[in-house]
Amino acid sequence: MGSLQLKTIRKAFGSHEVLKGIDLDVKDGEFVIFVGPSGCGKSTLLRTIAGLEDATSGSVQIDGVEVGHVAPAKRGIAMVFQSYALYPHLTVKDNMGLGLKQAGVPKAEIEEKVAKAAGMLSLEPYLARRPAELSGGQRQRVAIGRAIVREPKLFLFDEPLSNLDAALRVNTRLEIARLHRSLKATMIYVTHDQVEAMTLADKIVVLNAGWIEQVGSPMELYNRPANLFVAGFIGSPQ
Ligand code: ADP
Ligand code: MG
Repeated sequence: MGSLQLKTIRKAFGSHEVLKGIDLDVKDGEFVIFVGPSGCGKSTLLRTIAGLEDATSGSVQIDGVEVGHVAPAKRGIAMVFQSYALYPHLTVKDNMGLGLKQAGVPKAEIEEKVAKAAGMLSLEPYLARRPAELSGGQRQRVAIGRAIVREPKLFLFDEPLSNLDAALRVNTRLEIARLHRSLKATMIYVTHDQVEAMTLADKIVVLNAGWIEQVGSPMELYNRPANLFVAGFIGSPQ
């Protein structure tokens, strides 16, 4: 299970209102893409869902349960950032297992989960290496692996591929699509890249200045954009 309901989420930093009333339903297992210009509030919205920011008002529900007072680590969510945020002194294996170790999971179980995630991401040959000995694409796979081992209900990706070169971006995108199919988890994914949005999404959410302009499948948005802003973003000829 990993459905998400956002009810009129507002978030202000001082007098600057960054999210201006976001309502959204995400179904269990859906792949939802957030697109919108830089500064429109995409990262703030992800961080609010994860519990790294508190909404000024409104509610976040996971599987119908209000999580406003639930600590980030207890929400069943894993977040993958653009910067991989790996520990340089730890091996790939220990980076992937650290969260479980901190949660008191027995060593044998950690080994098993890390091995399984490493298999899914073709990381077995690199388990003993440290992050500095990996390419950017491999580091991002480790960051994704670290999310997978926690078996979250909901994955949040904040522009995970934007530091990678074009070829690696395609490979990693296909890998994420495969993971979505095999894990059957709910995924929310922020991107600037129209191809990523059109190919990965069950549903695209177009954000602009703290509002949702339109929600729909890639084809709905492409064929019937609600306004010129959406048309411009999705790239249909209208
Ligand atoms: P996006 O991810 O869509 O580029 P962000 O959510 O990062 O946008 O930022 C939205 C707006 O909120 C920006 O104007 C940004 O400067 C502001 N903002 C984000 N985080 C903070 C913060 N911790 N304190 C003050 N302003 C912030
Ligand atoms: Mg951002």
